[in-house]
Amino acid sequence: MRPERLNPLFAPVTALPGVGPKQDKLFRYLLGRTDTPRLVDLLLHLPASVIDRRARPKIRDVVPGTVVTLAVTVDRHRRSPPGRSRAPYLVYASDDTGDVILTFFRAQPDYIEKLLPVGAQRYVSGTAQLFDGTLQIVHPERVVDEAGLAKLSLIEPVYPLTEGLALGSLRRAVGQALQRLPQLPEWISAEVMRRCGFPSFADALNRVHAPVELTDILPDQPFWSRLAYDELLAGQLALALVRAQLRRPAGVRNAGDGHLRRNVIDALPYALTASQREAVAAITSDLQQPLRMLRLLQGDVGSGKTVVALLAAAAVAEAGKQAALMAPTEILARQHLKTIAPLAAQAGLRVAILTGREKGKERRDTLARLAAGEIDLLVGTHALIQDDVAFKALALAIVDEQHRFGVRERLALTGKGDAVDVLVLSATPIPRTLVLTYFGDMDVSELRDKPAGRQPIDTRAVPSNRLAEVVDAVGRAIEHGKRVYWICPLVEESEKIDFLVDAEQRFASLKARFGARVGLVHGKMKGGDKDRAMAAFASGDTALLVATTVVEVGVDVPEASIMVIENAERFGLAQLHQLRGRVGRGTEASTCLLLYREPLSELSQARLRVIRDTTDGFRIAEEDLRLRGEGDVLGTRQSGLPGYRIARAEAHGQLIAQARDEALRIMQDNPSLRGPQGEALRCLLYLYERDEAIPLIGAG
Ligand code: ADP
Ligand code: MG
Repeated sequence: MRPERLNPLFAPVTALPGVGPKQDKLFRYLLGRTDTPRLVDLLLHLPASVIDRRARPKIRDVVPGTVVTLAVTVDRHRRSPPGRSRAPYLVYASDDTGDVILTFFRAQPDYIEKLLPVGAQRYVSGTAQLFDGTLQIVHPERVVDEAGLAKLSLIEPVYPLTEGLALGSLRRAVGQALQRLPQLPEWISAEVMRRCGFPSFADALNRVHAPVELTDILPDQPFWSRLAYDELLAGQLALALVRAQLRRPAGVRNAGDGHLRRNVIDALPYALTASQREAVAAITSDLQQPLRMLRLLQGDVGSGKTVVALLAAAAVAEAGKQAALMAPTEILARQHLKTIAPLAAQAGLRVAILTGREKGKERRDTLARLAAGEIDLLVGTHALIQDDVAFKALALAIVDEQHRFGVRERLALTGKGDAVDVLVLSATPIPRTLVLTYFGDMDVSELRDKPAGRQPIDTRAVPSNRLAEVVDAVGRAIEHGKRVYWICPLVEESEKIDFLVDAEQRFASLKARFGARVGLVHGKMKGGDKDRAMAAFASGDTALLVATTVVEVGVDVPEASIMVIENAERFGLAQLHQLRGRVGRGTEASTCLLLYREPLSELSQARLRVIRDTTDGFRIAEEDLRLRGEGDVLGTRQSGLPGYRIARAEAHGQLIAQARDEALRIMQDNPSLRGPQGEALRCLLYLYERDEAIPLIGAG
């Protein structure tokens, strides 16, 4: 139950005067919500910049192009001449040093006469410009008298907006929301408050929305930082509450005698790398512990994570329990199954798949076998967390590319068993701060060495005006029996940009030239068609596969040795690396051609240079961080932390570890969140929408 004192903040924005259905829609869009935003959502929408109206020069001293607030006397009005309503309405004004013209387009004469009566003293604020040698302010944003000046905020916040939403109405709504801010208990410990010099929650909100100094709205200043810390603490506390559930009942062990693992290893056509062996050992030891496992397995593309996951599942099956492997896309789920199925069959491990595509009888059969314990490892997508999916004894949840899944999904999967161990697979080296942010304290295994026999990839950047040569070269390669990926940045319909060649078009033109040896796969195709296209390429029936980024992660056709990436400048570094990782998986030397369109921005140049110069995923991730900020490592465009509205990796990296420490301390001192401090912390969890962890709070 949400603490009652929070109710005013959870009132819908439509409860504010002047906020109607139209605004409701705009606010939803702006604040990224599917339902009507609450006041708290509005208050946590922080300004991006400010307008500084404090400059109060004499007219003579005005710097054109700047925002000024002038004290003037109104001299005369010049209405738009009759019949020329598009000519502006001009108000001539002056001080003892010079003249200024206040210009209004499509103005209501009555309104202006009232606003700026001739002979009156007024304060006008806006951007001053020089026009035909005369100083002008077009549509002054503020016109007030002496009394009004006293109330005028000279530093005004500017918010990120959405089309159709006026800055003024957003400001008014925020202002009203601020007035309804209830008295809240302090949830941050006195010690952290003192050490970080944090203001109270209410002070912080008031100052970022009604800044007194220009710096008040900067993320690294105390006001914003306080709110960022709140958000991080809420995140860490929620993770810690989840983690606190992780003790398993005494005597329960999730790894067996090793016989299935040995079978799998015997069935492998290769030897495990040293780091694969270490990872398996660490996981197996976790599975034996009385604490539940929470481990991240990081490894560059092609480093062989799938087989490690399979061995973990085998260990669990030996103990008579079940494992689930959840991938973010259907293609990836099938890809895992393809790697796993033959090994599992030889090892005597029962594997099945469940995605959105399995329906009707097939699905019912799988669910029945799952419930009866006749499936050891279930591979799938989000479909795994549907309500009617019930395991007999789920003991291990393996989540591939976890950052695409939220905490909610992770909880949903682990909730399908008792004391489920969690193994997260990530192809993107995640910086320590981000691991902390998203997983809290988590153990990490890294696959640093690549499987033996891998050939280097020769990467080149080629301007797109040499497309014809590239097509010729691809033609020759196909003749010689090579297999080629041709990647097009088909973006979602909504973000489609005219000049991008989309996959369908490129497919048509290549097919016209090379005929039936060309295949196509993209995200909008039906599942069955996608599989067929992938299978045809894997078997060599097609030699050239035109694809969108659906092949980005996990797809594995070791025979493919050439990749062409069109509009390579449109891709992020991590994505290019992921894409390129689809070649260089076999024993053949591979080539990657990055076709780019000129002119290249500096950032694109830098990216292409990095990707050309190295294939080391860890280095690429570092460069990516450097070039674009941490948010992008997780594949989002803003510089913020995905899932976090206020905390920023650059400004608040230091606070993450502090928040983690405080969360751990809370879990030691007051794990049930009791008493006044507990209530304050519950408020925090609700305010920052981490309350999904509250039902997990233990009774003891
Ligand atoms: P990723 O880490 O990108 O998920 P995969 O698990 O898909 O990598 O493995 C990539 C390829 O490497 C697969 O074809 C797999 O069979 C192969 N592989 C995995 N481990 C080894 C190894 N130790 N030696 C040789 N090949 C390996
Ligand atoms: Mg993989």
